[in-house]
Amino acid sequence: MAAQVNSMVGSFVWVEDPEEAWMDGEVLEVNGEEITVNCASRKAVVAKASNVFPKDPEFPPCGVDDMTKLAYLHEPGVLQNLRCRYDINEIYTYTGNILIAVNPFRRLPHLYDNHMMEQYKGATIGELSPHPFAVADSAYRQMINEGISQSILVSGESGAGKTESTKMLMRYLAYMGGRAAAEGRSVEQQVLESNPVLEAFGNAKTLRNNNSSRFGKFVEIQFDQSGRISGAAIRTYLLERSRVCQVSDAERNYHCFYMLCAAPEEVIEKYKLGNPRTFHYLNQSNFYDLDGVNESEEYLATRRAMDIVGINANEQDAIFRVVAAILHLGNVEFAKGNEIDSSEPKDDKSQFHLKTAAELLMCNEKSLENSLCKRVIVTRDESITKWLDPDAATVNRDTLAKIVYSRLFDWIVSTINNSIGQDPNSKSLIGVLDIYGFESFKTNSFEQFCINLTNEKLQQHFNQHVFKAEQEEYTKEEIDWSYIEFIDNQDILDLIEKKPGGIIALLDEACMFPRSTHETFAEKLYQTFKDHKRFNKPKLARSDFTICHYAGDVTYQTEHFLDKNKDYVVAEHQSLLSESMCSFVSGLFPPLPEESAKSSKFSSIGSRCKQQLQALLETLSATEPHYIRCVKPNNALKPSIFENNNVLQQLCCGGVMEAIRISCAGYPTRKTFDEFVRRFAILAPDVLHGGCDEVSACKMLLEKVNLKGYQIGKTKVFLRAGQMAELDAHRSELL
Ligand code: ADP
Ligand code: MG
Repeated sequence: MAAQVNSMVGSFVWVEDPEEAWMDGEVLEVNGEEITVNCASRKAVVAKASNVFPKDPEFPPCGVDDMTKLAYLHEPGVLQNLRCRYDINEIYTYTGNILIAVNPFRRLPHLYDNHMMEQYKGATIGELSPHPFAVADSAYRQMINEGISQSILVSGESGAGKTESTKMLMRYLAYMGGRAAAEGRSVEQQVLESNPVLEAFGNAKTLRNNNSSRFGKFVEIQFDQSGRISGAAIRTYLLERSRVCQVSDAERNYHCFYMLCAAPEEVIEKYKLGNPRTFHYLNQSNFYDLDGVNESEEYLATRRAMDIVGINANEQDAIFRVVAAILHLGNVEFAKGNEIDSSEPKDDKSQFHLKTAAELLMCNEKSLENSLCKRVIVTRDESITKWLDPDAATVNRDTLAKIVYSRLFDWIVSTINNSIGQDPNSKSLIGVLDIYGFESFKTNSFEQFCINLTNEKLQQHFNQHVFKAEQEEYTKEEIDWSYIEFIDNQDILDLIEKKPGGIIALLDEACMFPRSTHETFAEKLYQTFKDHKRFNKPKLARSDFTICHYAGDVTYQTEHFLDKNKDYVVAEHQSLLSESMCSFVSGLFPPLPEESAKSSKFSSIGSRCKQQLQALLETLSATEPHYIRCVKPNNALKPSIFENNNVLQQLCCGGVMEAIRISCAGYPTRKTFDEFVRRFAILAPDVLHGGCDEVSACKMLLEKVNLKGYQIGKTKVFLRAGQMAELDAHRSELL
């Protein structure tokens, strides 16, 4: 964005500032390339002309509800608009088709009540204030009118408000597509109640969000011919497994553990539970209670929600029994055994927890102990039983806990799906995607790698939709328009995904080769990609690598990449649990098909992530997308704090700044001649009777209202930002 500061002295401008991002002030003096600005907050500042932007003197005090209506569309203008709207609790703002949502961190109940839903029903987008209901309504109506499936993609960093927005979208769609009759367990009610169930088992308190979803989610809502919800499918992505046995300071494990510890007395006795502080999987972090949350009530609420989504009482008991077993398992400690390098439960306390875990999982206590302390190594002609030392047994115990929990989560998702049911005759669907945003921390491991791959993929989809589609449309319509460049990230995707030779392929190779270490893996990456533009080896690092992602550089630590990528169940764990006397537990570990057990076919989390993404993108590409970008205004998770730099960073990462630039440079509104004439004939009824063709009719209509700067394509009228509103205003005067 080049500064366009004309008659400078005395005018109001924005100046870059390292702390505030942008400061406003009045120009005092212009000295060649140097401009002196008198800023209210810090007196005179001298800045380079290229860093000074004009400030709209007519800026409306409450901002504008669509960025494309800003008189000056530049970074400080966008920021000022979001900020002044945020100050009056106007947390939603459009940028053309994108809805920006700034997390208020305070309840705004009037914004989401039934009355509000009623208002948005059938309202044209732009007619009412920006809102997720408006996005959902527009998706619903496009689906009904045009018969095209829709998707709503919600993104943003952790704690930005994705899940809350998703829930509102789902509520609105249930409201539009629900049946009037109050059936006990309607599809739409089941869809809504799947949220608290999934949150109980898949959400946890983190530093960034007290109710952070630790998995990605795509909810596909199916509709019948008459626009009623007829089925739904929930797909989940990459549940964070490590949290089950490893909790960082001031964070928590999954909510269900704390709920269960607050269950009614008889449950506590049956499962031999007690204070969460007595369990290793919970007491690694000294954080237990969430403000305003009553775990006993949550336990009961979760069970009620499970009733609704079709998980019966016996299954619920079994689920919580397994959750309790995991807690007991975590309390089994190991000490050196009698044999060399062997291990055994450390003391009576550990023995007690081992026994309880075995009882709850309904498997043999000795078999459980063996599966933790020994490992059978199968060679070509014999199998050898090897002892594990106490450290290895502890790691093995955690592996067992993680696989059980992850199977439990998958079971819950698939049971909900079966119970809601799919509609094979569904004509169209609306998909809602709630998925983790781009992550860049001090240390970044395999999880961040997969999450950032997901974001690269979605960014490409966004790029393609917003930018490529735009370009192609202009070219196709032979509209005169200067080409605007956009950042294409295909090269990053190739670096990661290409087969053979991409990072995931090299990682899988490393995982299959018994002698690889993270160092040999890193070395292989360095050799393979030494000339790749998007890949770097950090100077002093021995095994780290940096990817230049679209949203910035991220340095990954390879230490646990190999381990975390391997996706298999330890054979001892498989045979232990598939033989459980409890059909629920054995059902979580169905016997492996004969040949795959033998050939131990390699499967990896990285490749699975890639395949799941491929499938997701195929689904998405058959839909008309809508975007919601959530923004977290501060890291304190508090109301009324708006950190400029932080917000800007998120707008850039989400491609919002880029989209604004592109969309405004062109013609954001377009209507086919036919649509246009139908909509605006009222402006000059005689054009319809004149017998002229559609194109001439359009031109006549546009001339009639004296609009300038529009373009006539081959099949469509192209309007500049804001012109549609102008036309609509003329139209409503006549209606
Ligand atoms: P994400 O899914 O992006 O990580 P969440 O949707 O869980 O974030 O939101 C984090 C927290 O922020 C919520 O628990 C809630 O306290 C608050 N929040 C988010 N959106 C809203 C909203 N629209 N109104 C009020 N509070 C909100
Ligand atoms: Mg979430």
